[in-house]
Amino acid sequence: MEEASSSSTTVTGCAPSMKTTSCIETPIRNDQNEEGTLIAGCNQADSQTTAFFREIDGARRNTYLGCMIRPIISLPDKRLRAVSKPVEKIDLEVKKLVEDMFETMYDAPGVGLAAIQIGVPLRVVTIDATRGDDEKQPVALINPELTWTSEEKGTMEEGCLSIPEFADEVVRPEKIKARFLNLEGQTVEVEADGLFARVFQHELDHLNGVLFIDHLSKLKRDRVTKKFAKAAKREAVE
Ligand SMILES: [Zn+2]
Repeated sequence: MEEASSSSTTVTGCAPSMKTTSCIETPIRNDQNEEGTLIAGCNQADSQTTAFFREIDGARRNTYLGCMIRPIISLPDKRLRAVSKPVEKIDLEVKKLVEDMFETMYDAPGVGLAAIQIGVPLRVVTIDATRGDDEKQPVALINPELTWTSEEKGTMEEGCLSIPEFADEVVRPEKIKARFLNLEGQTVEVEADGLFARVFQHELDHLNGVLFIDHLSKLKRDRVTKKFAKAAKREAVE
């Protein structure tokens, strides 16, 4: 997609510094070993290297590097409506959170994830808006904010890892200018359009307790909300 390639050029600026702290440089591999254990890549150098996961409290921890796939919360979980707090210090805990978010996002798979989706109310977002076999471009965004949006609007189908198996078209500004901190605490300013701009706006919404269904008609939103509330009730009974 043309827009996507032009926007990815703009955001690559933060990728090299990411690499020192993020455990994800190579595309995630999912494979089965002879015992049938799920193996996924969380490796720094060798894409052939695999690492085993152990089940811990419903999450899988990479026993070599400590990356963990965390459970994603979904509707009607009230935490999705919480307003996340700014990160005050980018310490080891925040870096670890980012690593887990990338693991969780790629495993889902998704193109973006907000920390609140794994139950952490901090203004932290991970995005990788590359598609298919393109080289991965993981971007971690701390305290992201929009500084400008275009009047020109675009329509794109959106889905959400917290609202599984539902997608609908959402109208949003086509282009954005945004600011965030990278994991080194440096301010990064980006100008983006295409998929990155779309994902950025979707994830920023999450940090403010807003879901993409809030951009749909009340009728559609109520229908989805009721469906998930009913499913949760059924699960509670079973
Ligand atoms: Zn979402």
